[in-house]
Amino acid sequence: MKALVLEQHEGQTTAAVQEIAADRLPAGEVTVDVGWSGLNYKDALAITGKGKIVRNFPMVPGIDFAGTVRESKDHRFRPGQQVVLTGWGVGETHWGGLAEQARVAAEWLVALPPALSARQSMIIGTAGLTAMLCVMALEEGGVAPQSGEVLVTGASGGVGSTAVALLAQLGYRVTAVSGRTHTHPYLRALGASTILPREEFFEAARPLETQRWAGAIDTVGDRLLANVLAQMNYNGVVAACGLAGGYLLPTTVMPFILRNVRLQGIDSVRASLHRRQTAWERLAGLLPARFYEQAATEISLDQVPDAAAALMDNRITGRTLVRIG
Ligand code: NDP
Repeated sequence: MKALVLEQHEGQTTAAVQEIAADRLPAGEVTVDVGWSGLNYKDALAITGKGKIVRNFPMVPGIDFAGTVRESKDHRFRPGQQVVLTGWGVGETHWGGLAEQARVAAEWLVALPPALSARQSMIIGTAGLTAMLCVMALEEGGVAPQSGEVLVTGASGGVGSTAVALLAQLGYRVTAVSGRTHTHPYLRALGASTILPREEFFEAARPLETQRWAGAIDTVGDRLLANVLAQMNYNGVVAACGLAGGYLLPTTVMPFILRNVRLQGIDSVRASLHRRQTAWERLAGLLPARFYEQAATEISLDQVPDAAAALMDNRITGRTLVRIG
């Protein structure tokens, strides 16, 4: 089978497509013929070696994949069934989806909703699943379309793009924050009504600013998130899922104790099976057909290392879909 293999030589990570024996696959109850994978921020960190994502080499990266069950020792899955996987350390500590086959624990797999093709599920990918979990967190915090505007940061990335599309589809008025002006037509086509430049959010935030947002989905962190918190409406909810701008959070307690703001962390890696199933069902029902055209760039396995470098340099828009099978 063909796989992208990460190795480490003198502290440097190398990534190359290799032919490897399928009997080298790790232990697991279900073997999947991978049809599609995707390129996420964490994959790019792993493949370029810019983040300490992988500690044991050789490693097959790919934190998500969709495909067809080839063999199963678990009653929940049968050969021929379509499945999708995100998270659980796959592509980090367990060989992942950027390969023709993957072998994983049955409990990590989700049966693909009938309304989604495997290809569509990987256009969505971990990024899109995370966007849905963020939207669900806003809803659970009481943010409704009539509550006011919702802000999405890192808007032209994988998580941000899907969040903009989902919120617009649900009837929210969406303001997108993007550092790149050439992404504005794309963001408008996804449903953003206003687009703000990233720099506006980089100045040092006062503890409280004018109230602007009923909800926010943040993929960036650091000063940008601190500014967003200071601008939240009374009772506002922020779903924080990313660190594309950094992992620090230079904020104060003021938005929380004076404006009743809620900061909800979002993790997709260990979200329960029930929550994943709910999120996948909702994604299948909500995303319009045009989203899959607008948001996806399709590449082959050989093109993944270059695409990972481009993602790290913020040269990628939307989702990068990897054709495997
Ligand atoms: P992408 O690279 O596709 O998108 C990130 C976006 O952030 C970019 O497109 C860019 O948007 C913006 N950005 C990039 N660099 C900076 C910077 N230095 N300062 C401010 N903004 C920046 O990544 P993903 O969408 O796949 O992931 C986004 C984040 O979410 C990552 O940190 C990732 O690790 C995290 N994540 C977390 C998950 C979880 O379970 N918690 C799951 C999936 C992702 P623009 O050009 O429009 O400004």
